[in-house]
Amino acid sequence: MTAVLPVDSATAKVERADAAGQPVLRQRGQHEVFCGLTSIIWLHRKMQDAFFLIVGSRTCAHLMQSAAGVMIFAEPRFATAIIGERDLAGMADMNDELDGIVARLLERRPDIRMLVLVGSCPSEVIKLDLPRAAARLNHLHGPDRRVMAYSGSGIETTFTQGEDNFLAALVADMPDARPDAKPSLIVVGSLADVVEDQFKRIFQSFGLTDVAFLPSRSSRDLPAVGPKTAFILAQPFDNVTAQALLRRGANQIRAPFPFGEEGTTAWLNAIAAYFDVDQSRVDAITAPGRARAQKAMERYRETLHGKRIFLFPDSQLEPSLARFLYRELGCEILEVGTPYLHRSHVASELDALPATVRISEGQDVDKQIDRARAASPDLIVCGMGLANPFEVEGYSTKWSIEFVFTPIQGYDQAGDLAELFARPLIRRARLNVEA
Ligand code: SF4
Repeated sequence: MTAVLPVDSATAKVERADAAGQPVLRQRGQHEVFCGLTSIIWLHRKMQDAFFLIVGSRTCAHLMQSAAGVMIFAEPRFATAIIGERDLAGMADMNDELDGIVARLLERRPDIRMLVLVGSCPSEVIKLDLPRAAARLNHLHGPDRRVMAYSGSGIETTFTQGEDNFLAALVADMPDARPDAKPSLIVVGSLADVVEDQFKRIFQSFGLTDVAFLPSRSSRDLPAVGPKTAFILAQPFDNVTAQALLRRGANQIRAPFPFGEEGTTAWLNAIAAYFDVDQSRVDAITAPGRARAQKAMERYRETLHGKRIFLFPDSQLEPSLARFLYRELGCEILEVGTPYLHRSHVASELDALPATVRISEGQDVDKQIDRARAASPDLIVCGMGLANPFEVEGYSTKWSIEFVFTPIQGYDQAGDLAELFARPLIRRARLNVEA
């Protein structure tokens, strides 16, 4: 059976998402998202001995400078090597220039252990081969300093794909596990240190000791990978990384994502089941966290219950956030947009949503704005470029990018996650009272 949704664009196509026939509206038109360079903002804070050198234009430099809000005297761990007109005109050898910049940078910053060359739209358009440049620079500066490359270009990508491309490049650098290695776990996806520490404590209580997080805090702590390695995604957008780990022989543990009490419990239960941890022990260990999460979310339920939410495609977290809003806070979900729908990773999130929810992949932004206006939601979750115009029209909005910058995974962040959605509604209610 082919499910049919109203198709409102010449570029749109409807296809089945899963065995239940949940339809997906696919659109390929103008889309409004940040590019993959944006991910450097959280990645450079996470991996504390890495330096990200963007090979790009002045536009790339301005994006990073304003998005990261870094003071020029702060010695940040990212910079832009600007491709100038002489490079574009072929009057200079760009590889020679890049080698010179890298040599000066490494001499001035001995703390850099991993140098990451980040490709951009301009470097891709002129077909500058950064992986090959990284191999050459590794030869010059290794083995103490590693050089690697990935693409953060905005051509047909969204900002969370920057993290995915970076982690996939790290997988290529990970050593092979020894044949006699014990079973191990890798948690894939950037998590705030505080969240990582909470999960570590829970894993220890489960009796799991060989657990690594990707990205690691130090470039020297990349875990080994092999057939006895299991991995679980903590971020739904790390799809290329998952494929790279599968190719290295690792086994994927599939679960809903650890947002809210229910999501976190399902995620931890899946890990425990894989490693044969007794369920009654798991229940006892997670009981206090579950109770704390429920209590913390309770104060926002009154604000959020019954509210109608429309999610534009931006961070790729949208299906998981929609499940959290619907299942744990009683919201009505109107549309869940996502730049890319990785069905195998979010199948359980989609299954938890009612069949009335419209699921869309990709974007034709004007058409989607029209759908949002027609639906008249109480809250619109969208990128920064759309939020202000919607606010002017009287809608409450939430910036999608905040869900990537804010610690939201795990029991002790469930209340904070609920608050992120409740805050704009509370603010608008106050404004209406005062007006
Ligand atoms: S990578 Fe592309 S989209 Fe991103 S700032 Fe540079 S030019 Fe713009």
